[in-house]
Order: sequence, then C-alpha cells, then structure tokens
Amino acid sequence: MNNRKGKLFVVAAPSGAGKSSLIQSILANFENIELSISATTRSPREGEVEGKHYFFVTEKEFNSLKEEDAFIECAIVHNYQYGTLHKYIDERLNKGINVICDIDVQGFKLIKKTGIDHISIFIIPPSIEELEKRLLTRGLDSENVIDTRLENAKEELRCAEEFDYRVLNDNFEQAYEEIVNIIINGKSPKNNDKINIKILRDMLS
Ligand code: 5GP
Repeated sequence: MNNRKGKLFVVAAPSGAGKSSLIQSILANFENIELSISATTRSPREGEVEGKHYFFVTEKEFNSLKEEDAFIECAIVHNYQYGTLHKYIDERLNKGINVICDIDVQGFKLIKKTGIDHISIFIIPPSIEELEKRLLTRGLDSENVIDTRLENAKEELRCAEEFDYRVLNDNFEQAYEEIVNIIINGKSPKNNDKINIKILRDMLS
C-alpha cells in the first residue's frame, strides 16, 4: 500500500496560450503525472476521444452529477459546462499519482476556496496580439467564439497574480523547463516570476 499522496497541480491560461501543448509534453515525459479528465457539455471536436480528452455528457447528465456533488469545482466556460470530478482526482492522489488539472481561472478560484492542497500555475501568452493570431491559425473556432475567447482571456490575465506561479510562454522550451522546475523542485527561479509579473502588468496596461 502506498501511503504517499500525489500532488495536485492546477494549470490555467487563456485559450491559445499554449497550455495544452505544454501539459502534453509534461505528461509524455513524466511517468507519475496524469491529467484530470473533466466532464463537459461541449461536443467533441474532431479527434477527441470519450474518456481520454473529456467525459462528454448532456446538460441533464451534468446537472445530475452536480446534484450528486460529484465535482470539486465546475464552471461555465465559453458557454459550456465543465467540471473536475472528485472521484477521478481522489483515486489517483490516493495512489500517489500526481495529477494536473487543466482548468479555467474560475475553476482555479473554486479549488482555492475548497482548501484542497494544490500548486497553481498560470501560463501567460507572449502578447494579446499573439494570442489572437494563435486562436485564428489553430482554426478550431468560429470568429464569434474567438471574440468571446479574447475577451475572456483579458479577464483571466487580470487574475494571474492570484496563482502560486506564472510562466511566460513566448519560448516553448523555456516555458516547459520552468514548469518542470515547479513540478520537481516546487519553485521557479525567483527572478523569473518577478519578470513575468512585470510583462503581465505591461500587457494589461
Ligand atoms: P476546451 O473546450 O478548449 O477544451 O476548454 C476550454 C477551457 O475550459 C479551457 O480553458 C480549459 O482549461 C477549461 N476546462 C477544461 N476542463 C475544465 C474543468 O473541469 N473545470 C473548469 N473550470 N474549466 C475547465
């Protein structure tokens, strides 16, 4: 029996900041870290697999899960419901497996409120302009959806200072190394965070 509990990492970022690619690299290179699979009412995109990317559920199923208290947190993101499942996380943490929650800022705030032990990381995009470019070129969303996502992104950037760590993703390798440092050593080089906070404040001014 393994008595050591796994650690919970909460990673949030505006859509298009490169969060998914960074998380996928971490998952590919570290054995003892798994991604939390959330439930969502959003329809699967091409290539997305039930139980691997999300548990895709109807509004009715999502609301039943909510009533059963199945979620650590849940929120409406870009017009759809998303929720982190207690059972999914607890099973892994109790086995000593570390878990990454890829969630939005609302979800992070709710997890913080629960008092559950966690380490939070906010991924900062290189600039608002670059974020827009990334959203347009990945071609996943319509123009309206991109506009909503950009508005939400600015709101989310304003909350970045509430996280334990901020990582600027203007260079993938560097951002990856910074996250690895946080995961393994529980810290990022002090100056990095100071610089990242300055970049963030400039971006919002
Ligand atoms: P997407 O639809 O592009 O997969 O995800 C949209 C946003 O929802 C992303 O920012 C993602 O991190 C967030 N998200 C995914 N799962 C959850 C969840 O369980 N809870 C919350 N609050 N946000 C989530």
